[in-house]
Formats: sequence, structure tokens, C-alpha cells
Amino acid sequence: MNTLEVKNLNVSIEGQAILKDFSLTIPKGEVHALMGPNGTGKSTLAKVMAGHEDYEVESGEILLEGESILGKEADEISHAGLFLAFQYPLEIPGVSIANFIRAARAARLPEGEEVNAVEFYKELYAKMDELKIDRKFTSRALNEGFSGGEKKRCEILQMAMLEPKFCVMDETDSGLDIDALKIVSDGVNHMRSEDRAFLVITHYQRLLDYIVPDVVHVMYDGRIVKTGDAELAKELESKGYDWIKDEASAMA
Ligand code: ADP
Ligand code: MG
Ligand code: MG
Repeated sequence: MNTLEVKNLNVSIEGQAILKDFSLTIPKGEVHALMGPNGTGKSTLAKVMAGHEDYEVESGEILLEGESILGKEADEISHAGLFLAFQYPLEIPGVSIANFIRAARAARLPEGEEVNAVEFYKELYAKMDELKIDRKFTSRALNEGFSGGEKKRCEILQMAMLEPKFCVMDETDSGLDIDALKIVSDGVNHMRSEDRAFLVITHYQRLLDYIVPDVVHVMYDGRIVKTGDAELAKELESKGYDWIKDEASAMA
């Protein structure tokens, strides 16, 4: 049960089916990429995993190590070990990065226990050094006036400090410049481990030059229509998505 498992998920919005019997299993230790043309439901999947309320889940399951996370609150989902990074991270004026991460850590402790400040900062600085993040960053307000690259650095730092078992990153259409791309990919590669799984959602192959996935899935019209290795992403880069659409309509 060392997996993130999505089983026969059917999701709609305003009566329109978006995810259609969508299934996916990611074992710990692996990085899976989810690719596909715009509007196929990739971000919908990420948002449903995050517990977003706009979507109607008609049937199916999302299981973290066998435990259902559907219907749980965002903080419970995080507590269960899932980290979701998004294209437009929230800004929290007046709250420093260090305090934000500390609060997230505190939320996971049993009732009455507190984060040890000395140990927390020791660990924070060690992670910042590993990720080559300047220490002056710690006192800045979360995402306030951040550049694209700084937001990504901050997101990677949060991810590293929360030590999630499962990481889902939706980078689709975010137009990362090369610096931001390097920050994200270095961070992910640094965090790759036997105890952790990643789902990297991306429209473009470019990110996958830096984060080489173990498995690539191609999504079309609400479901996965093709699965392969890193070569599949390269094939998509050269051939585009049209042949996937043709194959998918031949299957239907
Ligand atoms: P992708 O990330 O693959 O580009 P999305 O999950 O963003 O796809 O969108 C899938 C479909 O769901 C699209 O047709 C989109 O218009 C629709 N959709 C997504 N979110 C909403 C929403 N909040 N309201 C209405 N339609 C939505
Ligand atoms: Mg889109
Ligand atoms: Mg998207």
C-alpha cells in the first residue's frame, strides 16, 4: 500500500463531466509525469486531490497508502502526507516564510505539543543551505512582491520542510523561465527518494529534460490514454498531441 492511488474517479463541474473513470497508481520511489493538451482535466485532478470544493466527485477514490482523502479538509490532506504545489501560490502579507512553515509544522503535532524553535531554525537553515536559498529569505512575507523564481524557491522550501510522502506539482501553462525551471527541478531531484512519490503535471516536455520521470502518462478527454517511459514525452514534443487525439478517438 505504499502508493498514491486514484481509482475510477469521475468528476464533473456544472453538470459537465471532466474526469472520466480516471485511474492512476504511483508507488513511492517513482516520479510520474502527467501530460496532455489543454482542457483535458489535469489541473482538475490536482485540485480535487487538494480538496477543492468547486468540483463534484461522482464516484471513485483517492487513496494515500490505502486511506481515502476524498472529502477531507486541505490541512488533513497535508497531514496525511500529500503536498500540492500550484502555479499561483497564495500571498500572505505580514506572515514570514519561517513563521508560515512553522505554523504548518505545528499543525501536524499532537495536541499540546509545540515546535522546538531552536531545532526548527536549525533544520530550516540546513534545508535552505541544501537548496541554496539565501537566509535573508526567511523573514520575508510569504510571496509578497516575490519574483516568479522566488515563489518557486519558496514553494520548494515549503515542500522540503513538510517532508511529504506524495508530491503533486501542477506546472501547466505557468510559463516558467529557465531559472525557475532549474529551481523547481533541482529541488525535486534533491527530494527524490525511495520513501516519496511525485506526480509532475506539465503541458510541455521541457520540464522533463530536468526532472526525468520514471513513467509518463498522457491524458486526453478526462482519462489516461497512453503510458510509457521518458521517451514518450520526447515523442510528444516532436509529434505534438494530435496523434494522441486520433488514437483516443480510434479507441472510443
Ligand atoms: P488542463 O489542466 O488539462 O488544461 P483543466 O482541468 O484546467 O484542464 O480543465 C478541464 C476542463 O474543465 C476544461 O474544459 C475547463 O474549461 C473545465 N473547467 C475547469 N475548471 C472549471 C471551473 N472552475 N468552472 C468551469 N469549468 C471548469
Ligand atoms: Mg489549462
Ligand atoms: Mg492545467
